[in-house]
Amino acid sequence: MPDAAHPFVTRFAPSPTGRLHRGHAYSALTAWTAARQAHGRFLLRIEDIDATRCRPPFEAAIHQDLAWLGLDWETPVLRQSEHIADYEAAIASLQARDLVYRCFRTRREIAEESARAPHGPMEAWRGAALPADQEARRLAAGEPFAWRLSLDAAAQALGGFEALTFLEEGAGPGGETGTIAARPELGGDVVLARKDVGVAYHLAVVVDDARQGVTHVIRGCDLFEAAHVQRLLQALLDLPCPVYRHHQLRVGPDGKRYAKRDRAETLAELRDRGMSAQTLRRELGFD
Ligand code: GLU
Repeated sequence: MPDAAHPFVTRFAPSPTGRLHRGHAYSALTAWTAARQAHGRFLLRIEDIDATRCRPPFEAAIHQDLAWLGLDWETPVLRQSEHIADYEAAIASLQARDLVYRCFRTRREIAEESARAPHGPMEAWRGAALPADQEARRLAAGEPFAWRLSLDAAAQALGGFEALTFLEEGAGPGGETGTIAARPELGGDVVLARKDVGVAYHLAVVVDDARQGVTHVIRGCDLFEAAHVQRLLQALLDLPCPVYRHHQLRVGPDGKRYAKRDRAETLAELRDRGMSAQTLRRELGFD
């Protein structure tokens, strides 16, 4: 049982870009159950920095679906869109140490460059700041740019990545568990501030996990690779590193993971066709 010295705080952090499906329900139930068992705290966080894709009705539906499932969470609920200034401050601190650079490339240019990389398209993309005169010219022309983390500069600042580890109490997609040596190079020079949105996923997540005192990150193992990048950001921003518990992804009868893009049946649809929350919880292995 946690005490003041060993608290247990976890969160479910969906993006309101669609309706929740069984995969989300499984993640949320896993985190909520872990918090209950540890006599800890369960938080809901709305990851809505991408105003181009997030919609208020989806946010309202998240609350409705989770309540239907029988979950409860602390209020107020953190909405990332209300904290943009904090993410910008974190980026500014990286800028001040030359750990990020402006990247004017389009997705297509990066895909083409990756395909030409010496070890082929699987190699994570790495770039560099433009020479000052070229950068000034493109800025003056009003060209949009993203801020990318420079892995080279980060490695230099930390004296390499060897000391970067995190504790995995669940498992990655390949069964990785225990003390994991972080390999942020897997993600390449990740975008920390998007051209269109001004902030990006990895940065907002590490800032918020720290702000909210999250001790255990419980989520699907499709985000295991993200932990490698997030561990590096925590080190660069001097933030604590939570324990990770990645869980296997639920798959449907066709053997494919539930996904919004595959139009997985939503919780609202299950409810509408008369399924009870209890039946769903049982089906997912809870209760
Ligand atoms: N917002 C992310 C998603 O919906 C989850 C982030 C996280 O759990 O770290 O996939």
